[in-house]
Amino acid sequence: MASITFENVSKQFDDFTAVKNLNLSIDDGEFLVFVGPSGCGKTTSLRLLAGLETITSGHLYLDDRIVNKLPPKERNIAMVFQSYALYPHLSVYENMAFSLQLQGKSKGAIRRRVETAADQLGIAHLLKRKPKELSGGQRQRVAVGRAIVREPSVFLMDEPLSNLDAKLRVQARTEISKLHSKLQTTFVYVTHDQVEAMTMGTRIAVMNHGILQQIDSPENLYNYPQNVFVAGFIGSPAMNFFRVHLIRKDAQLFLENEDFSLPIPESLMAKYEQYPQKEYIFGIRPENIHDPQYEVADIMPIPVKAEVSVREMMGNEIILYVNTMGGEEFVARVDPRSPLKAGDKINLTFDMSHIHLFDTETEVNIT
Ligand code: ATP
Repeated sequence: MASITFENVSKQFDDFTAVKNLNLSIDDGEFLVFVGPSGCGKTTSLRLLAGLETITSGHLYLDDRIVNKLPPKERNIAMVFQSYALYPHLSVYENMAFSLQLQGKSKGAIRRRVETAADQLGIAHLLKRKPKELSGGQRQRVAVGRAIVREPSVFLMDEPLSNLDAKLRVQARTEISKLHSKLQTTFVYVTHDQVEAMTMGTRIAVMNHGILQQIDSPENLYNYPQNVFVAGFIGSPAMNFFRVHLIRKDAQLFLENEDFSLPIPESLMAKYEQYPQKEYIFGIRPENIHDPQYEVADIMPIPVKAEVSVREMMGNEIILYVNTMGGEEFVARVDPRSPLKAGDKINLTFDMSHIHLFDTETEVNIT
């Protein structure tokens, strides 16, 4: 078991900073996910932790010990790579036994550990096969099995599901979550897929351009994103953003642009009164925009005129791509009974009790 602390860690490749002043602590037994778009520095962060890259500045701690210069094999960390990196000429058993043989473990001990891990992962019947005789999902399990047998204090996983098809990915995702519950070991997982991050992580570190944007529980990231980047990255379809002015007319505050004038609900007035009346970025998630025919109880209906350009029937919901009269595109996730279709001119209802306001300069969420 181990806790991990990055203290002001940076990684420079020549004059390019891949990771900038990373500060974060991962608790013993936690499942932490690094998520972000391609090139944001998540794999580099994981490789720094594994000891596969050297830290340019800052300190990395495993428990209370600084490990900046500790070689990978002395860190008691096991890594599962995206490519699985299985030895093609070795059987599944030999692949899983390999690192234990290097450690000089006895034959009996190796057999016990390999068989236990193979049972846990449901691959006991595949131990004699070579990697080329396995499906993608089976290979992925062997790669995980190879990490498990080492009984490491930390598991690192770099996009281990990205080679699987969509259905297998969902299944493997739950298997890894179950494995974490069973082993109760620290897991650090890298993915560019926000759904994977949200469903697996106990906490999620969102990165962009080498900088940690926010580290939080899935619920908090979704409900209280700290800036425009996190708000737009977490959630699918993504949050809608509009440029608006906060203005006062008589006793009422409004978010206004050329397309709409949205009154701030009574419950939020005290809070919004404190904000300067100027331009902001207004954010609203697709599920907080409704077809008024299927109104959700308890919301103040604020109609916004729009024209549907695309309707996507998902079974349990309908995703509507719509344009305001001024031509701005946004997305609504509406009731599956909604008959709205491309070309329909409609009034969609915005639920103003679930809105975000971001500063236009800093893009920080002020709500
Ligand atoms: P992806 O999802 O595409 O793997 P990532 O978020 O994991 O992306 P990293 O692999 O951490 O990104 O890379 C971060 C940045 O550092 C990228 O711009 C990459 O080109 C750069 N980088 C990574 N490794 C090296 C290296 N060895 N030399 C130079 N630049 C590198």
